[in-house]
Amino acid sequence: MTDRLVPNKLGVHAFVWAADWTRDDATRAIALTRETGYDLLEVSALDLGIIDVAHTRRELEQHGLSATISFGLDASCDISSTDPERIRAGERFLMDAVSVGRDMGATHLCGILYSAFQKYAVPPTADGVKNSVEVMRRVGEKAAESNIILGMEVVNRYETNMLNTAAQGVEYCRRVGLPNVRVHLDVYHMNIEESDPARAIRETGEYLGYFHTGENHRGYMGSGQLDYQRIFRALIENGYAGPITFESFSSRVVGQPLEGILGIWRNLWEDSRDLASHAYAFTTAQLASAAQSVRNAERSVLV
Ligand code: MN
Repeated sequence: MTDRLVPNKLGVHAFVWAADWTRDDATRAIALTRETGYDLLEVSALDLGIIDVAHTRRELEQHGLSATISFGLDASCDISSTDPERIRAGERFLMDAVSVGRDMGATHLCGILYSAFQKYAVPPTADGVKNSVEVMRRVGEKAAESNIILGMEVVNRYETNMLNTAAQGVEYCRRVGLPNVRVHLDVYHMNIEESDPARAIRETGEYLGYFHTGENHRGYMGSGQLDYQRIFRALIENGYAGPITFESFSSRVVGQPLEGILGIWRNLWEDSRDLASHAYAFTTAQLASAAQSVRNAERSVLV
């Protein structure tokens, strides 16, 4: 987008608009995503069966929007386990998700695709990591046939035991060894686990394939304590050109099971449209400022 000085598509998570995905929810969410200026909608798919793929694709196309799909595996599908049955179930789910993504016209599948999305009581095992990597390589190969990028979302310790830091995400992707299996970073999680989120972004480098914004309390952008000036400068300096998607949860919209897994107990906003419009304006302004700060280096010439 030339008016933004940066190439990134700006996205918004479906849970800003609706917790379910009936045809009416999809129609409304897609229209509001376009109205508030975004290029991309991230559809949440903890249950793939809730998506009317043909309807969603038609509505997205009519509004000129890109789409991504995000989810986490449940315990019965944990490919980082050592139970062959769970690993097979997980591979089936991931392969189905790639098919849904392809049929919906999605560019990315992201989230906790590499393990269960839960609080673990034990650390990961080397065998479990190996199992996950092997499945992800096969899923990644199928995704590549449809030009789909898989984003391994690095999340905090209460949501997985495996990829809690960007460095672990990079090493996982290195082991998978496919160009379309990348690291997905999220400011909310980095705020909990990283020593320095901006440094984590720079060290992820070319492996970065998807990015989530939000706040440390998951409410309005800029109303918390994240250092967005440094975060956006790191993205620009990194040459990151992928999607930047705003994710926010309030008990106003979110429902089970996500409400329970994520601990969304209070209202951090009431008005989805105001929240999304504000995040769009905040993000475009921050990105423009970051792009200018990089240019300032070129302008600092002694005559
Ligand atoms: Mn996220």
